[in-house]
Amino acid sequence: MISLKDSFGRTIDYLRVSLTDKCNFRCRYCMPREGVKRVEHGEILTLEELERIVRVMAQMGIRKVRLTGGEPLVRKNVIKLVEGIRGIAGIDEIAMTSNGSLLGSYVGALKEAGLDSVNISLDTLNRENFIRITGQDALEDVLSGIHSALEKGMTVKINCVPVKEWNSCEIEKIAAFAKEYPMDVRFIELMPIGCGKDYTGISSNELLWRLEERYGKGIAEEKTPAFEGPAQYYRFDGFRGRIGLISPMSHKFCKDCRRIRLTVEGYLKLCLQYSYGVDLRKPMRRGCTDEELMHIIRGAVKEKPEEHDMGEEHADEEQRKMVQIGG
Ligand code: SAM
Ligand code: SF4
Repeated sequence: MISLKDSFGRTIDYLRVSLTDKCNFRCRYCMPREGVKRVEHGEILTLEELERIVRVMAQMGIRKVRLTGGEPLVRKNVIKLVEGIRGIAGIDEIAMTSNGSLLGSYVGALKEAGLDSVNISLDTLNRENFIRITGQDALEDVLSGIHSALEKGMTVKINCVPVKEWNSCEIEKIAAFAKEYPMDVRFIELMPIGCGKDYTGISSNELLWRLEERYGKGIAEEKTPAFEGPAQYYRFDGFRGRIGLISPMSHKFCKDCRRIRLTVEGYLKLCLQYSYGVDLRKPMRRGCTDEELMHIIRGAVKEKPEEHDMGEEHADEEQRKMVQIGG
């Protein structure tokens, strides 16, 4: 079987695709209130270009695609794109990360088009706090998006970024979603990227300690399948779903990293922290062949850094905000 390897022997089989740098929210740790400098319309990859990149990468060994953004559901024709990717041989899984606010009206069509799962970001269950964090009065829409996705039989995970300044007191309540519903709740350590530098995250160790205080001993799962990504999952007695802890800061998982990222303007990014990567849009628009595109991608993947060093200053430090990368 064909596989894409970096120079440290890691198999790269997971592509995160940012569909847009637009978002209807302004989460404090992700996007400045005034927004970000938008990519010009003509510089955004078209659906055909996106599909071509995924098709070429599938021939090289990419097996899972995650659609993200900005908010992926504000991109026009997202359903058509999911359908297109579903038809690409070699892609085993299509996932999406969404803020959930528009999910209610899209989830049926997304499922029919072939989306396998959706991760929904949810940092608070308090309406006022939701407005403070995201800048939008949309908690009800997000909750109804979560319910619609569950009703349609979609695999749903909740992503929460615990931040001392915003939602520390709500962690146990958010975790209880996994008690009530058949879905995993994952807590992601805040990363000091872009606006994330302005706030204080909560470590996974502290979270686990707090959750165990409240819900009893969590049983760590032995091993997660590669596609499940970097979360360490725990089972709590009486819970229908699992609790996942994603710890990029306290427990680096770079040695198991399988992912690369494509920005909305067609820049292939190799590591979240560093800006280093390669532009795929220009060669495609100049008319390069699939073989030439593969050559460029293979060369870039060989340059994937061994690990991040977040928290330290680096010359090659990423200047994009998280909303421009896709998480
Ligand atoms: N708009 C979608 C959403 O919110 O799910 C997708 C894009 S968003 C950039 C993807 C994920 O990145 C979200 O779960 C968000 O909470 C997370 N994120 C954004 N900034 C972060 C940071 N500084 N540290 C950790 N996670 C972050
Ligand atoms: Fe938008 Fe997602 Fe960033 Fe919030 S986390 S501002 S919803 S892209």
